[in-house]
Amino acid sequence: MKIDIVGNMCTWTKELSTSFIIDDNILFDTPQASFKTLLNDYDLKKIKFIVISHFHSDHFIDIHLVLTYLILNTENNLVLLAPKGCLERITDLLRICEELHLIELIKNRVQFIECENNKIVDIFGYKIKIYKMFHQNIDSYGFIFQKDKTKVGFSGDTANCNNLRKMIAKSQAVFIDSAEVKVTNKHLCVNEVISLMKEYPDCKLHPIHLSYYSQKELDNCGISYPCQGQVLNIE
Ligand SMILES: [Zn+2]
Repeated sequence: MKIDIVGNMCTWTKELSTSFIIDDNILFDTPQASFKTLLNDYDLKKIKFIVISHFHSDHFIDIHLVLTYLILNTENNLVLLAPKGCLERITDLLRICEELHLIELIKNRVQFIECENNKIVDIFGYKIKIYKMFHQNIDSYGFIFQKDKTKVGFSGDTANCNNLRKMIAKSQAVFIDSAEVKVTNKHLCVNEVISLMKEYPDCKLHPIHLSYYSQKELDNCGISYPCQGQVLNIE
């Protein structure tokens, strides 16, 4: 599985927030300002399937730009996998941005699939298992993408929880929230990620959604992490 790291950081940094392109045609999360990078550095026209892990702005807010571009510039039948209420939120966004005339186009061209814990979605040759994560009280999800025998997990935003451990136990690699330096009920901290690395040596954990604090701690511990613009191939 080819993973383009569109962004690897969190909101409070100057770099892009965390987003991925999987095998050129799946876009995972659309953070603030990501549309500019997606349009100029990637072949956005290849995107057919978009996954939104939750509705915080650093995962969702550029969705209306991405969808509008794809609808106006491609013939792609688009599928959007997101938590419940996605169309309503996109409608609100378009209203706020005075682009409400686009909503009918989006309704006509985009198939919406709702995330639910333990749901399996078979689509475009992938089997996607959905896991509810622990991100304060937010409806936030993680995913295992399986293609043939390759299983890659994406934690989205999460604190430590049983479903995260299930994902790690089943995957060859997991892109894992590592935003904090102290234990919280919103994100994982570096020490928790290091403990999981020791507990699950057969799964390669890739720290993402970094803050400058957690990045510094990872550097101090000699732990590598993927960076914006990098491409990983996971077999
Ligand atoms: Zn979040």
